Amino acid sequence: MAENIEKNIWEILTQIEPETSRLQETPHRVAKSYMELFEGYAQSPEQIVGSALYKTPTQEMVVLRDIPFSSHCEHHMLPIIGYVHIGYMPDTSIIGASKLARLVDCFAHRLQLQERLTVALVEALTLILKPKGVAVGMAAEHYCITQRGTKKKGTQLVTQHFSGVFCTDRVLRQEFLRTSRL
Ligand SMILES: [Zn+2]
Repeated sequence: MAENIEKNIWEILTQIEPETSRLQETPHRVAKSYMELFEGYAQSPEQIVGSALYKTPTQEMVVLRDIPFSSHCEHHMLPIIGYVHIGYMPDTSIIGASKLARLVDCFAHRLQLQERLTVALVEALTLILKPKGVAVGMAAEHYCITQRGTKKKGTQLVTQHFSGVFCTDRVLRQEFLRTSRL
């Protein structure tokens, strides 16, 4: 795959840069960085979480907020950079906090729509952790909006998605949004 990417990046470079003599190594570097930026396709949420589920000592909401992430939009392959907040109401288990951050990377390291990324995180956690409910909120800058086209610098796309008790309990949902400062 990396070789194909190199070949195609070289084709693109020759279309946009008249002087390519300095860029001989660029396709190789780009291919290598793509393998890292899009490594999420080779990962599965179940594998990432593994056995990091523990008997819960609490019935209260657990929130990991301000998880930084970067992804790429599937429409322009330009960066999406922002923060994710993940909350859940435990039933029988809690999950290792670092696993939540790794789950974000697993989905963020694929071509994305922010809306789909938000839903994917809720669905994966609902499936794996089987909590009473999951809440995910995200705010991110999309370079295809801030650096090109309308060039609206400073704009952020805010998305949220809920499952279980967060769908029915408005107070709980408000509590999550307050805690995550979304
Ligand atoms: Zn885009």
